[in-house]
Amino acid sequence: MKKVLAFDIDQTLNVAKTPITDDIAELLTKCLNHFEICPISGQKFDQFLIQIVNRLPNPTPEQLSHLHLFVAQGTQYYRYENGDWKQVYNYPLTEEQVAKITATIEQAAKELGYWEEDKLQPGDEIIENRLSQVTFSALGQKAGTEEKYAWDPDCKKREKIVARCKELSPEFDYEIGGTTSINAITPGMNKTFGMTHLLEELNVAKEDILYFGDMTQPGGNDYPVVQMGIDTITVRNHEDTAYALKGILGIIA
Ligand SMILES: [Mg+2]
Repeated sequence: MKKVLAFDIDQTLNVAKTPITDDIAELLTKCLNHFEICPISGQKFDQFLIQIVNRLPNPTPEQLSHLHLFVAQGTQYYRYENGDWKQVYNYPLTEEQVAKITATIEQAAKELGYWEEDKLQPGDEIIENRLSQVTFSALGQKAGTEEKYAWDPDCKKREKIVARCKELSPEFDYEIGGTTSINAITPGMNKTFGMTHLLEELNVAKEDILYFGDMTQPGGNDYPVVQMGIDTITVRNHEDTAYALKGILGIIA
């Protein structure tokens, strides 16, 4: 029996960058009675609250104590203690690293004609400093979901940007995630880092974990978890995840 259910967020628990559905919220809340629940994603802490935590229907403090937030690919970890979320650890990039990555991605995207500044909504930005990683979102954070899906459905644009970034600044790793995103990190600061710390913090073995992700193919941001030898379920979307969770909960009940 698994002890931990770990989840990618974008396209695994939700439609990328939007709050989880009632169905997923209810299923996750039920799962908190039986498992440690660990969302792990490139997003920031506030998005974990908006997209997941605030959507759970009346969770008890006991239930929340089994929810573990692995923010920015697990380079930050938050746990619920005494009525509030506490940061347990944080491994940020340096200012120099952030500046170099930002310049690299901008140059690569501009050279390839994929720098879509004219399509941004007011106040939005293409490159965001998420402290432990720098994230490129081709159309910004606020673009519509359909527009985002249409931009790079086969990942070909992002594969070209990543290839050019690797030529310009090979000291960083670049991963494709979400629908229009590339996450730049220092080597090893990917989901392997987060999952390794998860093992330590929750004091569990790899065999205790079942991981859900939509980008489990080589080059995808869930692939490091597969490479670690953790049992993985590849989903296409949150409907697939809901289907699997219903099966798991059905077996327990
Ligand atoms: Mg995903």
